[in-house]
Amino acid sequence: MSVVLILNYHRVGHPTSEARYRRMFVSPVHLCMQIRMLQQLGFTILPLCEAWQSAKPRVACLTFDDGYLDNLTLGLPILQREGVRATIFAVTDDVGKSHHNWEEAGETARADLATWDQLRTLQAAGWEIGSHAQEHRHLSRLPVATQLRLLTHSKQKLEEQLNKTVHSFAYPYGDYNAETVRAVQEAGYRYGVTTEIGVNRSLTQPFTLLRVPMFGYRLSHHLQNYFTLRKYRNV
Ligand SMILES: [Zn+2]
Repeated sequence: MSVVLILNYHRVGHPTSEARYRRMFVSPVHLCMQIRMLQQLGFTILPLCEAWQSAKPRVACLTFDDGYLDNLTLGLPILQREGVRATIFAVTDDVGKSHHNWEEAGETARADLATWDQLRTLQAAGWEIGSHAQEHRHLSRLPVATQLRLLTHSKQKLEEQLNKTVHSFAYPYGDYNAETVRAVQEAGYRYGVTTEIGVNRSLTQPFTLLRVPMFGYRLSHHLQNYFTLRKYRNV
């Protein structure tokens, strides 16, 4: 493995009229085109926890934050058709909530979150289920003991519900400090993904991995995304 490109997605579908953060959305068609572009560019697509075991020169990971139901209803059929698997990061206290939004995030569009059964369906399809903490909060603003509790509790809950060891963690809001990074390690995770942009060349910083934000629902986004992905192939 020489390059691991971790793409960061949130919702699958077209942005609704009330959505403030339209770049949270990738339409099924754009998602499909992005998968094909990655493959044409020579990337092997794997869940995050399998990326570093691969001998392939270029690995890409599709990671979906927050645990939205549309990842299953609209995303899974595309990924299955294309023969690839992804990683989804769930907020354990919010699993199964309907019409949910994290007010702190400033998003007004509401969305349904996958239930435990739906997460099990994704897992059965080969997806990796990772943690996005017990609550969707800015961890760096909390006392260390609280951070550790949110990280540990979430890992245990996922493992209890899914009967599988959880290796990957995504920082809510991409927010962390040195204490958070230590807490992720202490809680027993192997990987932590941030929202800092870039590609990973080796596993020297497994708890502060870089990602590339992806979206797309208009024709013009296609070309833009193509150039983004091509750039990261050649780094
Ligand atoms: Zn999030």
